Amino acid sequence: LFVEDDLPGAGLVTLSADQSHYLGNVMRARIGDSVLLFNGRDGEWEASVAEIAKKAVTLSLKARTRDQAASPDLWLCFAPIKRARLDYIAEKATELGVSHIVPVMTRRTNAGRVNTDRLHANAVEAAEQCERLDVPTHTDPQKLEKLLADWPEGRRLMFCDEDLSGKSAVEALRETASNTTDPWGILIGPEGGFDDAERAMIRRMPQTITVSLGRRILRADTAAMAAVALWQAAIGD
Ligand code: SAM
Repeated sequence: LFVEDDLPGAGLVTLSADQSHYLGNVMRARIGDSVLLFNGRDGEWEASVAEIAKKAVTLSLKARTRDQAASPDLWLCFAPIKRARLDYIAEKATELGVSHIVPVMTRRTNAGRVNTDRLHANAVEAAEQCERLDVPTHTDPQKLEKLLADWPEGRRLMFCDEDLSGKSAVEALRETASNTTDPWGILIGPEGGFDDAERAMIRRMPQTITVSLGRRILRADTAAMAAVALWQAAIGD
C-alpha cells in the first residue's frame, strides 16, 4: 500500500479512510495480518495490522523488506484524450516505469478538463499492483509552447511523429549513446495530430530524435504505451 508517511522509525501508521476501507472491508484483514507499505522514498516496509477501527486501520511497522530502487527518469508528455483513455494512460505508464506524467495542450487537443487527482489515484493503484516503490509525479496540463520553452537542459526528447519521417524508434534509440540514468521525455500528439507549426517547433528542440512507431497510425494512448515500452526495451530497465 502507498502511504505518505515517513516510514523509518514511524512505529505506527494510520491508513487513510479509503485504504482502511479497502484493507478492512474489501480484503477483510485481521489483527496481525502482514501488509507491505511504500512511500516512494524509503523503500518497502513490512507492517502488521495493529488495530481495525471503523474509519481507520492502524499498522505497526516491522522492518524494511526492499531498498528504494530509482526508476528511470522518463517523462511521458502526451496530449490528453477522453477520460477513460486518460485513466488507461496513467495506469499503463505507471506499470511501464514512467517517472513523470505531463498532459500537454496542443492546438488540436480536444479533451475536456484533465482531472489530475484521478490521474494520481490511478497511478497509485497501478504502482501498488505492479509493486513499484514509487508513484509517477504529474503536472497540471501545460501548453506545448510552455513545455518546450521550459524543457530542462540535458533532457533528451523522443518525438513520436506519425508522418513516417522519423527513424524506427528502436533503431533511433539504439543509436543514441544513452544509458538508463540519462533523463528522457517522450512526446505524443493528440488524436488530430500535431500541426505543421508545432512539428517544426518540436524538431527545433536540441537533443530531439523524431521516431516512427511503424506504418500504422496508432491511437494516442496506443502510441504512448508503444513508445514507452520500446524506450524501456532499448534503454530502460
Ligand atoms: N495525424 C493522425 C491522423 O491523421 O489520424 C492522428 C495522430 S495519432 C492518432 C496521435 C499521436 O500518436 C501522434 O501525434 C503521434 O505522436 C503518435 N503516433 C501515432 N501513430 C504513430 C506512428 N506510427 N509513429 C509515430 N507516432 C505515432
